[in-house]
Amino acid sequence: MSVIAVLALQGAFAEHEKMLDQLGAEHFEIRQLADIDRSFDGLIIPGGESTVQGKLLRDLGLFEPLNKLISGGLPIFGTCAGMILLADKLENDSEHYFSAMPMTVKRNAYGRQLGSFYTESEFAGSVIPMTFIRAPYIADIGGCEKLAEVDGKAAAARYKNCLAAAFHPELNEDLTVHKYFLDMVAGKV
Ligand code: GLN
Repeated sequence: MSVIAVLALQGAFAEHEKMLDQLGAEHFEIRQLADIDRSFDGLIIPGGESTVQGKLLRDLGLFEPLNKLISGGLPIFGTCAGMILLADKLENDSEHYFSAMPMTVKRNAYGRQLGSFYTESEFAGSVIPMTFIRAPYIADIGGCEKLAEVDGKAAAARYKNCLAAAFHPELNEDLTVHKYFLDMVAGKV
């Protein structure tokens, strides 16, 4: 059985843990450097504020070891701010973080305050609920595979061991995206 680590520095990490509970997946939180000594098969980076998460990752000494694990092939799933941390280019920000996915992401792309909305769209072939909160979109899919599109913009992408969604699948009841990630971890997709 796979063990999933959830980055729990800031943002909507508890909601991801609830989804993993519903899927019967073992999980634990990463809050400090000592936590990554545990063995785990996949990592979730939640939504929240990418600048805050990026700063905390660096201040706590977590950035480099996690970066090594990700480039070494650890399956990773980033939602919203987590997607920003995975992109190798940000259209409206000179920062970049793990740079694990060759795509260009635009932060706060739907407007800073009015950017929260709900829709339903296809993810990897099935229609699912999607909640966007001050969300980024994928301005250029680059070398990634597009898994979802909303309003003509890519909203979820896959690149090798990395999965990213601009929306928050952890805020709705549907388990499709988390199930897809667990299948990735298990090497099934
Ligand atoms: N706007 C946030 C950022 O730039 C992301 C919002 C979210 O994760 N819901 O980090």
